[in-house]
This record gives sequence, C-alpha cells and structure tokens, in this order.
Amino acid sequence: MRSVNTTQETLPSTGIIGHAGALALLDRSREAGRLAHAYIFVGPRHVGKMALALYLAKSVNCQGEGRPPCDVCSQCRRIGSGWHVDVQVIDTSSEGESDEDKTDKTRIGIGKVRELQRQVSLRPYEGVCRVFIVDGAELLTHEAANSLLKSLEEPPEGVLFVLLATDETSVLPTILSRCQRIELSPMPTDDLAQTLTSRYAVQEENARLIARLSGGCTGWAISAAQDDSVLGARIDSLDVLIELADSDLEGRFQYASKLSQLYSNDKQGVRDLMDLWTLWWRDLILTWAGQGDVATNLHRNDKLEEQSLRYSLDAIQMFIKRIKEARHYLERNVNPRTALEWLMLGFPEAQTAG
Ligand SMILES: [Zn+2]
Repeated sequence: MRSVNTTQETLPSTGIIGHAGALALLDRSREAGRLAHAYIFVGPRHVGKMALALYLAKSVNCQGEGRPPCDVCSQCRRIGSGWHVDVQVIDTSSEGESDEDKTDKTRIGIGKVRELQRQVSLRPYEGVCRVFIVDGAELLTHEAANSLLKSLEEPPEGVLFVLLATDETSVLPTILSRCQRIELSPMPTDDLAQTLTSRYAVQEENARLIARLSGGCTGWAISAAQDDSVLGARIDSLDVLIELADSDLEGRFQYASKLSQLYSNDKQGVRDLMDLWTLWWRDLILTWAGQGDVATNLHRNDKLEEQSLRYSLDAIQMFIKRIKEARHYLERNVNPRTALEWLMLGFPEAQTAG
C-alpha cells in the first residue's frame, strides 16, 4: 500500500471542480449520518475520482470549523498531502505480500488485499475513520476481488471503502452490488475553460485548448494548467502520430519498436498514446463529415483537413477498430512488438486522386 499521491487530481485548497451532484449527495449523507460503508466512483481517467475520494476522506476526518472539509485543519492537510496514516490507497503499484503482486504490476493481487485487510482490523490511528481507496477496482484479480468482497460484506465500524473504476464492466458484479455507485461525468468543456481562466489564471485561448483536449476531464486539465510541459508533451506526442501518415512501413515499424520498449516500463503511457491516436482518427471522421469545428484536436486543423481527404471513411473506421484490437492484444499480454507491428501493417492506404 502507498500513501496518497495528490499531484494529479487534487486542487490547491478550494476543493473540486464540477461534480456538484456527487458532492451534494455525499455531504447530505454524511450530515444525516447515512454514509454507505462502501462507494464505487465510476468515470473516465482523470475525471476527478481520486479528488472526490480524498474529499470524502477529509470530510469524515475533518476537525476544523464550519462545514467539512475545511481544508485547513491538520487532518485535512495531512490527507491532502498524503501523510495521513488512516487514509490508504491500494493500486497496482502498492506493496503486496505475495510473489504474484511483485511480478504482475498490471493487476491488484491477493497480497495487496490481504495487507489492506490486516489494516482494516486496526483502529484509526490519528483520525476517526479509516478510509481505503482502491484505485482501479477493475484491476483486482478474481481472487483479490473475492477476498475484498468479504470485507465489503462485513465492514468494521469506522472504516470506509472507496473503490475507483474506469471500466465498470470489468468489476466483479458482487463487488458492485456491495457499493453505492456514483458516476462522474466529464465537465462541459466551455465550463471547464471558464474555470481554468478564472481559478488558474490560464489565458483564454489556452484554456479553451486545454479544456477541449482534456475531454472535460478536470484532473488532466488542471495538471496541464499548472504545468506547461503537460500540454507540450501531448501536442508533441500527437505530432509524431500525425507524421506516421507520411512515413513508410519501415518508419512505422521503428515507431512500433519504440512503443514496445516504452510499454515494458510505462504501460499506461502507451495506452494513453493509443487513446490519443484513436481521438485523432475520430477527428478525421468529423472533418470528413464536415463537422471539423467540433474536433478535439482543432489546433491541428491543417492536418485534419489534409488527411481527411486522403482516406475513405471505411478505411478510417477500420483503422480505429484496429487500434482497439491492438490495445486488446496488449492487455492480453501478446508480445508488444508483435501487436504494435500488426497495428502498423493495417495503416490505411491513401486514396488515389480522381
Ligand atoms: Zn478540516
């Protein structure tokens, strides 16, 4: 288990952007003394699931004045900085006790859940409520999920479970049935752009770009607003992917080889790149259909126009499907280089003019 890492998804002091409905629901339940023992927050990556989990952890432990969380008392501050002993995150990088946990870094194995259960039985050390955040409920192995289920079925007093899931369909149904489900949706990009301008002093045009590229996922948008290199890296990565259209098979295979090396130590990084690429091809469909003004990657409008003339709609759709399949192969532990070369072999042919 590790302590909370707050760099990506929390805000400096004022709380959370958007998700008013979820916040109101949690506040009302807490005030009425009717918080569930276990929640599952469902939504896309970077939408703000971890921020909401920390909000809840602070709310139940806050000792400040007024309506919790105050964000200034020592409980709130320690939770926010990741030092609170009673608020624990279990994820794929957590320490587990079994060999399986040490070898498979893509899953949350039984050893990690056993460690969680050992801690569940302890009394709160510095707060009043122990909060266990499972970041990636869909990544629990079958054995780990079944073991966690036992804790969810008989939750000890003063313990709160918060499960976070990006892919709800891969969560064991019996786990889902034990948790109160709260869905977090991306924020409308216009609202998000406005918030970035007013709260983070991002210049208007940049705020619109960040909001659009984030797809309404506030976690990514905030990190991009606070750190220029985040936006720069995304733009650079996309440019490399765009250039592949002008490359030959050898160039594409070289890129596949680079990606497969990256995959061995940064799986999520490769998944993100494939999502980015999918978005690009979706933008090509929009541009092809004359709706380029709602494309995500509007900043590369020149290339969208150019490439949308180059491929047939069928070819674009086929390649989107192929990216999805390649991703699937990677998740199923097919040799990364083989899977990525297979993807490149399916790169669409340009239509001949006339
Ligand atoms: Zn507080």
